[in-house]
Amino acid sequence: MSIPLRPELPALPDEMKSLKVDARGYPVPWFVQWFNGKPDHRVVNPKRLDHAMANPVCWVCGGNLGLKVPTFIIGPAGFTNGINSEPPSHPACAGFSIKGCPFLSNPNMKRRRDASYPVPDGQGKSAGIMLEENPGVMALYESISYDLCSDGMGGLLFSLGEPFSRVKWFRSGRRATYQEIVAAFAFAFEQSKGVCTDSLGNRISDLRAAFDKAIGRVPNDDDQKKYDEQLLGRRMSGAEAWEIVTSSGVRFGLLDQGHLDTVKDMLRDGRTWSEIGTAIG
Ligand SMILES: [Zn+2]
Repeated sequence: MSIPLRPELPALPDEMKSLKVDARGYPVPWFVQWFNGKPDHRVVNPKRLDHAMANPVCWVCGGNLGLKVPTFIIGPAGFTNGINSEPPSHPACAGFSIKGCPFLSNPNMKRRRDASYPVPDGQGKSAGIMLEENPGVMALYESISYDLCSDGMGGLLFSLGEPFSRVKWFRSGRRATYQEIVAAFAFAFEQSKGVCTDSLGNRISDLRAAFDKAIGRVPNDDDQKKYDEQLLGRRMSGAEAWEIVTSSGVRFGLLDQGHLDTVKDMLRDGRTWSEIGTAIG
């Protein structure tokens, strides 16, 4: 008998429909290691990590990335240094994960490392130095170009190219505000300071400068508002539907909330109205 998905989860992308569902009702990502028939979401399957390092497969569902834009899930520290420890995913799979995965979406969640729930020997150590606590916001980072690089400790990391589209920051399953993003960068800086040692050749002042530069690349709420104001949307009477009239007079009728969010995202990404028209049919 299959276990139903938790009702609060976002719609499951087609790519993820073949994944197993754990006892709590969460889909089990492809990368997760299983022990005695039970998935341990904290532990990465090392064979699958090797496979994903060498092949263009989705980290969440294991399917081929194909022509989809490789999408990384990164935190403020990764955004600052352009480095990620985990392989990319399909945009839809990464989008589901950032909203639905308890660790990624819940700012107060800590990775469980307590003795009552030990990680099996030799497992669960990822390359680089991972910050153990969710910094409060996480982002979807689409990148066409990326390379593997060494973490200086025998592991491999992903070095990300320029983002393909606007980096989207999330908190608790929704888009994060600028204020929340700034607070998360400050928190991640404090955490990074703790693991910043001379052996890595880092200096605190360099780290501060790098974080300041990174937050300068995050659009503030006024920028976001400017994009939103390009939409003259209104709720149509008595229906959960929207009509959009663009500033040049093009009309899109009867959009649902999902379509409206897509339109807003595409505007933020600087796509044209004709591209948007094609995307939403
Ligand atoms: Zn996928």
